[in-house]
Amino acid sequence: MTLQHPSFGAVEPGRVFIFDTTLRDGEQSPGFSMNLEEKVRLAEALAELGVDVIEAGFPIASPGDFESVAAIAEQVRGPVICGLARSAPADIRRAADAIRPAARGRIHTFISTSKLHMKFKLRMEPDAVLQAVTDSVTLARNFTADVEWSAEDGSRTEHDFLCRCVEAAIRAGATTINIPDTVGYALPEELTSIFTMLRERVPGADGVIFSAHNHNDLGLAVANTMAAIRAGARQVECTINGIGERAGNAALEEIVMALRTRHDAVPVSNAIVTEKILRTSKLLATITGFDVQPNKAIVGRNAFAHESGIHQDGMLKNAQTYEIMTPDSVGWTKTNLVMGKHSGRAAFRDKLRALGYGELGDNALNDAFRRFKDVADRKKIVYDEDLIALVDDEVMRDHERIHFVSLDVHASSRGPARAELLLEIDGAPQSAVASGDGPIDATFNAIRTVFAHEARLVLFSVGAVTEGTDAQARTTVRLEEGGKMVDGQGADTDTIVASARAYVHALNKLLVKRRRTEPAALSA
Ligand code: MN
Repeated sequence: MTLQHPSFGAVEPGRVFIFDTTLRDGEQSPGFSMNLEEKVRLAEALAELGVDVIEAGFPIASPGDFESVAAIAEQVRGPVICGLARSAPADIRRAADAIRPAARGRIHTFISTSKLHMKFKLRMEPDAVLQAVTDSVTLARNFTADVEWSAEDGSRTEHDFLCRCVEAAIRAGATTINIPDTVGYALPEELTSIFTMLRERVPGADGVIFSAHNHNDLGLAVANTMAAIRAGARQVECTINGIGERAGNAALEEIVMALRTRHDAVPVSNAIVTEKILRTSKLLATITGFDVQPNKAIVGRNAFAHESGIHQDGMLKNAQTYEIMTPDSVGWTKTNLVMGKHSGRAAFRDKLRALGYGELGDNALNDAFRRFKDVADRKKIVYDEDLIALVDDEVMRDHERIHFVSLDVHASSRGPARAELLLEIDGAPQSAVASGDGPIDATFNAIRTVFAHEARLVLFSVGAVTEGTDAQARTTVRLEEGGKMVDGQGADTDTIVASARAYVHALNKLLVKRRRTEPAALSA
């Protein structure tokens, strides 16, 4: 029997749906918060990547979360747009309101089902939880035919009770059943038996899509996801770069490339355009300011670097000796030497299009081109990475209240440094001169003079976008205000200017965050 799904229609037996939760489970981890424009931008990249479902946020958590889910539902076409809700009616109504503009919208509702969570977290009897499953799914079905139900802490739930909850959810109209390993505790063979059991025992199981959601606390998230797929799960929940609560979620790029590379052992299909993986990974790193570690599978800087002589020798004779997949297949290009100061606007536009910036508006293009010329003047060779850093820097600044305009710094080993700074605040130019213990300190003091604020600087880090002393610096500034933390990024060939940009970026994020209330703690 072919399974019919309200959003996907007739489902091919071997089709695995990719459910991306970078904007929900990923975004709720410390330091990874994004503003509305950044979320929409990432959602657009996820749509181009070919994910089937975007979990865009947790609408009742805060007005900011609600607005971003609604904006993504309105603007991003292609994937199903999903909003998370606990079992309370207010949660479900709020999620329903947020996803209403979507062409295809999903409500994802969850409740804990393990003894531990029911007793200590929910303080509910199992029968009350079972009733809440029925009530929440029934209510959600009033708003959309596409309803996902999750058993929070499902992997640690007593099996008979899990079967009863899943049966109740299916009877009430859930079309996707998700069994999360919320705390990253399960072993692959345990997930195999849970999914096998549910599919064998629960009435109506063949009419729904089973889903896996694994955390990486023991480094098993992807292995567990592969085990779930082999046991019949047809949706996998994952994040770009594996970001997420604590040690993170299963990484999308690792699951997808495991499925592609080992199609012989796990013959299933999905719709991801793997060549766009690296681009999406880098966009997320640029937005959040967290690079992946160099040895990160698929998207790390060293993931395809062969260093030892024996390996290099083998690679030259036949790449397959040490390469199980090609770097091109995930978007690494060998010729990343791009442009210099003589490159024109048309070539620049072409290059941006090739890098995935097809929809860049004229204003953003002009600003980016000006920045490019500026970089090219100071740096002989401009690499893809340089372009990506400066364009992301430019595009992300579009809607912000405070803009960096210029900076002059005098630094000396014999006395205090002096910074002269020009910013634009809500369109009005404002300048200040300040001194400090070194050029960075003087610059940050100047920012504080122009735009007074109470935030504390808790982290300042500098990295290089590419190699060499003329490389662009990418800096991260983390500010803390009233318990809220934000990270800002800046890129420039001048480290001090990059630092000023990063500080201004963080301040802009803080202004957005001030309008938001603190999201309720959740860990589905
Ligand atoms: Mn989770």
